[in-house]
Amino acid sequence: MKLINAFFFKILKFFPENFIKFFSSRYIAGFTIEETLSICRELNAKGFVLTLDILGEHTTTKEESSKITDLYKKLLIKIYDNNIDANISVKPSHIGQDVNDSLFKKNLALLANQALKLSNFIRIDMEDSRYTNLSIEAYKNLSKNQNNVGIVIQSYLKKSLHDLKKLKNKNLNIRLCKGIYSESNEIAFEKKSDINKNFLDILEYAFSRKIYIGIATHDEHLLEKSYELIKKYKMKSNEFEFQALYGVPLQKWFARNQENSFKTRLYLPFGEDWYDYSMRRIKENPSIAKYVLLNIFKR
Ligand SMILES: Cc1cc2nc3c(=O)[nH]c(=O)nc-3n(C[C@H](O)[C@H](O)[C@H](O)COP(=O)(O)OP(=O)(O)OC[C@H]3O[C@@H](n4cnc5c(N)ncnc54)[C@H](O)[C@@H]3O)c2cc1C
Repeated sequence: MKLINAFFFKILKFFPENFIKFFSSRYIAGFTIEETLSICRELNAKGFVLTLDILGEHTTTKEESSKITDLYKKLLIKIYDNNIDANISVKPSHIGQDVNDSLFKKNLALLANQALKLSNFIRIDMEDSRYTNLSIEAYKNLSKNQNNVGIVIQSYLKKSLHDLKKLKNKNLNIRLCKGIYSESNEIAFEKKSDINKNFLDILEYAFSRKIYIGIATHDEHLLEKSYELIKKYKMKSNEFEFQALYGVPLQKWFARNQENSFKTRLYLPFGEDWYDYSMRRIKENPSIAKYVLLNIFKR
């Protein structure tokens, strides 16, 4: 079955972008800010809180990275003006890390200050392992003085628990996920069971120290274990949240979160740079690729 799904994914790469665009609306909140804000209102009304991501990564010039930083600043104002319950998620390589380290730190500080002025919060998304130490370092420095910034820890990296233990600042705010990039087996676990074990070890460490955690997974086993740990450590509902990607079905456990007054935050990517993101999501769940292809042939 896995082979068949991978085959469907390969074929999909040869399809016209417009076709993928039609399909990708499942995973993307909108192509413009206005489209996205309207989806945000609907999702807030259903009880979700949100984090907004402007699609794209790896800007290569100062001008490009400043343009993205400005877009995020405007987005923070729109969120405030429209009374949307959402923060923002930002990729280091999108706001200048590939150009140079100081540009990234400058842009990140601009965004964190803008967020602070508007009583909002900024999450530094975690990219591949070339960025891990730099991102954690930037987070460490920024969060010394302000507590409206958070970082991501990926459980597929063998050093992640160690990284978390080294973070000593007060008011840590961590999103815990498995990790999406292709990494060597020298630094990353390959087996799902190892990645999941590390996920739960990190979660347990965080709960035992009351570190705020965004539990970012759709994995039923991990969700079940997370509920057990919440009970074991008597976590209050304002000490953690669940997080999921927009477009991934989660009705069952969203209802369970609501019953328990646990927060569920959806990660909403939007913008013009949608192609790579959509293909990554299809690759993650190739059965969708099959479904998409079968639908074309039925029409
Ligand atoms: C809110 C959020 C933020 C994230 N931020 C980052 C980040 O900053 N850096 C990073 O490296 N990674 C990030 N990720 C991605 C994450 O690392 C995983 O790659 C991704 O979430 C899939 O892992 P999983 O825990 O859901 O488990 P999996 O074992 O991959 O999936 C579990 C189940 O979820 C369902 N599912 C998963 N993906 C899909 C899909 N596309 N469509 C439909 N169903 C699906 C399937 O039923 C699957 O069996 C983030 C994920 C979330 C939820």
